[in-house]
Amino acid sequence: MNRFELTVWGARGSIPAPAAANQIFGSDTSCVELRCGDRLIFLDAGTGIVTAGRKLYEEKVSDFDILFTHCHLDHIMGLPFLIPLYKDHVSARIFAGHFLDDTTCQAMVEGFMCPPYFPVKPKQFAAKIDYRDFRPPQPLDLGDGIAVKTFRLDHPNGAVGYRVEYDGRAVCYITDTEHQPGTIDPALVEFIAGAAVMIYDSTYTDEDFERFVGFGHSTWQQGVRLCRAAKVPQLLIYHHDVSRTDMWLEELAAEAAAEFAGAQVARTGLTIAI
Ligand SMILES: [Zn+2]
Ligand SMILES: [Zn+2]
Repeated sequence: MNRFELTVWGARGSIPAPAAANQIFGSDTSCVELRCGDRLIFLDAGTGIVTAGRKLYEEKVSDFDILFTHCHLDHIMGLPFLIPLYKDHVSARIFAGHFLDDTTCQAMVEGFMCPPYFPVKPKQFAAKIDYRDFRPPQPLDLGDGIAVKTFRLDHPNGAVGYRVEYDGRAVCYITDTEHQPGTIDPALVEFIAGAAVMIYDSTYTDEDFERFVGFGHSTWQQGVRLCRAAKVPQLLIYHHDVSRTDMWLEELAAEAAAEFAGAQVARTGLTIAI
């Protein structure tokens, strides 16, 4: 079997959460690395991608893809600090498809890496960057047998869920998204069906969800219901709220594993073979 694994570089949502009480699960925002054989794909470029980038530089990795779920700051704020983008031997493809208007991926990156918000413009990237636009459910062919399916999620300003298939296995990355309490979206069940792992927006819990209707996020319990319905054996609880300390997340891990044996809580540095 070819290598197919994921590594979490940042599991937080909304804003980084550096604190002594958050050392185990980490403080960085959304970023997951996929290794498909020799290929490297990043799901989002939150602050977690900064540490990943230093490692890539040491490994002399010169080619990768970035798939953005959307461009809320917690998913893009690491991009300007991704060291390999400033090296001229590097090639990268950056995908975005969540826009609800005719904004493009390139315009989005140029729009946030721009004075007075940030001093460095993307034209100072030395890497060869290919910006790619799509609209879900358009599939993406990344080559080398890597097939990506896309799904529009319910989130303010839009977001895209991904299903990455390689060597007969699949992983799904479903964040940021809001569910309707008491229902399970049959289209989403079909989208994730049979995947080995689903990484899921678990910002809230069923107990506190009522207070956050309309915020565009979901709960770990909805992740369990989706995994059960779609026969997905592993759930990775993800996009932790800034208030969730290690102690809180340890308790959640035990509660979730008791409810669904394949559930675990994402933390920076966690690697899972798919
Ligand atoms: Zn987010
Ligand atoms: Zn968001």
